[in-house]
Amino acid sequence: MRTEVVLRQIEQLEPEMVEAMMRLVRVPAIAPESGGDGEQLKAKELLEILNKIGFDSVERFDAEDSRVSSGKRPNIVAVLRGESETEKVWIVTHLDVVPVGEETFWTVTKPFEPLVRNGRVFGRGCEDNGQSLVASIFAVVGLKRLGIRPKRTVSLAFVSDEEQGSKFGIQYLIEKVHFGKDDLVVVPDGGNGDGTFIELAEKSLLWFRIRTIGKQTHGSLPNKGLNANRIAMQVALAIDERLHRKFPLRDEFFDVPTSTFEPTKRERNVEAVNIVPGEDVSYFDCRVLPNYNIDEVVAEVEAVLAEFKGKTGADFKLELLSKQSAPKPIEGKTKVVALLKTAIKKARGLDAYVGGIGGGSCAVFFRKAGIPAVSWSTVDEVAHQANEYSKIENMVSDSKVFALVALL
Ligand SMILES: [Zn+2]
Repeated sequence: MRTEVVLRQIEQLEPEMVEAMMRLVRVPAIAPESGGDGEQLKAKELLEILNKIGFDSVERFDAEDSRVSSGKRPNIVAVLRGESETEKVWIVTHLDVVPVGEETFWTVTKPFEPLVRNGRVFGRGCEDNGQSLVASIFAVVGLKRLGIRPKRTVSLAFVSDEEQGSKFGIQYLIEKVHFGKDDLVVVPDGGNGDGTFIELAEKSLLWFRIRTIGKQTHGSLPNKGLNANRIAMQVALAIDERLHRKFPLRDEFFDVPTSTFEPTKRERNVEAVNIVPGEDVSYFDCRVLPNYNIDEVVAEVEAVLAEFKGKTGADFKLELLSKQSAPKPIEGKTKVVALLKTAIKKARGLDAYVGGIGGGSCAVFFRKAGIPAVSWSTVDEVAHQANEYSKIENMVSDSKVFALVALL
């Protein structure tokens, strides 16, 4: 009965959730690596919201970072004590958002001017990770309004720096705060459209950049130089082909079932069409099945570069930007999975299943620390895109699931 009352209560909170979402989206929180000033202002806004709710404690854990004007990358932990203080559930979401990308692609509204349309809130950070962040807060609001102390202690963590590797975010927080091996950790950052996918494993991640150095010359006299643009394209295709061929495994547990090796960003080069570029900088984003050692992937890239150096006379500099080996996938039968499945069934009438993905999230750092963390939420997967949005219906029903995870 208590369950039903809580579910109805959370439905009532929909307008407040939308309001909180819009308030938070208005404050950009972009990493210094992407030209932003970090999460400080957004954290301030969030604290104002949190302080009105009646948590038993709200604490800040600032990581120092001189690249942002405040010198701080905020991490916040808000706790609602349960009947049991030893049994704890964590819901971990992130404050930071990715840059807006090409501004003209935002046709519904400007990235930081949130707008409600067709049951969705549009704006940068609405799906990633605003929806879950707000849903987690209002799960607690729902319980508080009913005067219910949940069975488990609920700790909400709001962290910085997720989009750039989490050094100033969850990695810092894991050092500062005690996370128990038996704590139930949910990281609602990613999922599928109907909320039936519980993610238990991630691929290893490898980001690298290749600087190709040739010799700049006039467009009409390519023989006088060495076209770094052409060589870089050939190199990129060769790496693409080599990695796919050397690391072909399929594992249907994962979505996508194979390792992926994608040439992504390229830095802009010359200013004019009639200049043969003397330098090129290209990037790869690789997501590698945990069966492979990523050092072997790096070795293959180095081998291709050595070949091309001999063949073309160009110089190459390989720089690893991010290299994270995936921990072993956690067991499908851990308590947090069972609990989440039950909560999803009760709140939404759906049977959830488990699997792995290519995208990294904060969950990986818990798994590395030996704490089984799952990632789950209900999203249309519009994160990092123009016209990013959150379906209000998903925000409300995910909030119900979070409340039940604390309660059941
Ligand atoms: Zn995210």
